[in-house]
Amino acid sequence: MKKTLTHSLLWSAIVAAASITNVVKADQFVSGFEQYEQQLLQAGETSVQQGVTTYINEIKKLEKQYGYLGAELPLPPLTKVTDGVYVMVGSQIWHNPSNFGLNNNPGFAIFEDGVFVFNAGANPAIAYTLHQRIKRMTNKPVKWLAVENSQGHAYLGASYWVDVGVRNLYSNATANADFNDAFDYIKDEWSRAVSHELTGTARNVTDRFITFNESMKIDVGGGETVELINFGAGHTPGSAALYIPSRKLIFAGDLAFNERMLAFFPYTYTLGWMDSYRKFVKTIPADTKVIPGHGTPTDMKTAERQTLGYLEFLHKAVEKVVAAGGRQQQIEEIDQSAYKDRPVYEQTHRNNAVHVYKELTGGDF
Ligand SMILES: [Zn+2]
Repeated sequence: MKKTLTHSLLWSAIVAAASITNVVKADQFVSGFEQYEQQLLQAGETSVQQGVTTYINEIKKLEKQYGYLGAELPLPPLTKVTDGVYVMVGSQIWHNPSNFGLNNNPGFAIFEDGVFVFNAGANPAIAYTLHQRIKRMTNKPVKWLAVENSQGHAYLGASYWVDVGVRNLYSNATANADFNDAFDYIKDEWSRAVSHELTGTARNVTDRFITFNESMKIDVGGGETVELINFGAGHTPGSAALYIPSRKLIFAGDLAFNERMLAFFPYTYTLGWMDSYRKFVKTIPADTKVIPGHGTPTDMKTAERQTLGYLEFLHKAVEKVVAAGGRQQQIEEIDQSAYKDRPVYEQTHRNNAVHVYKELTGGDF
């Protein structure tokens, strides 16, 4: 008897949570009119209610046709990295309303046959803003889109690009599966942290993506070929870098960080990250320009020092504490002050050390 009661209580809690999530997830503008529609229906105002229903459906149709209805966002200006390659360097702190969710590096390269966009943006509004800037720079259409990994700021803007007609979308197979599985959670998290209005129209379009495991070459016209490469697990289990040999440039995604502190998530595998990074250094010529996942564009040497350098430093420091019989308390106290000026240091460094400790000693995340 008691068990049944507990079950039904649990069930009503789940139903209540689900309906709250649905309200939160809905587009605020449209959902306001949907409430109005219900009120009219209850008041027996069927003729006005029909008008409102038509209006709601029109707005939804327009939103889908244009990918996003609203103003351009006041995002940081484009940075020119090399001929025909630009990036919108995002904020180096956590995603929040002040940066509209732009805390990674969406960018693009202009080729003979069209424009290749790297990273969809954290919401359709960022995607729209980037698109307007592309249009002011070239008459060529956006023909390709690739995303760096399974994170919200890589993927949530993808439905915008689908809605405006981009048909060649690429992602690593693991990243695509991971984003598909976690779509509801990721959209909800970014909606709450950044903005329901900006994130509300994002849809899961993972079924439109062409996926690859290790690498994939794409002909971009004019005799040029670019390559999508997954150097291996690391910051996320699956990732993609976009290598453009003709421009001596790589969009490295979250394989490479510059300036900003590295952040480890439960799915991050730092041992794998070091191997993947060494493979990256071996594969890509030393004179290649690097657009990192976070931070400003740089060169191969700097990116290596900033990323692999930190990973190696932390591993060495943690191993030393473990060898001396130290526990989590001592791990958290590891002196990382050499990195204290890097953005999000305070929010990440202790967790980073504990993360490495758990990887090395088999603890749960
Ligand atoms: Zn990222």
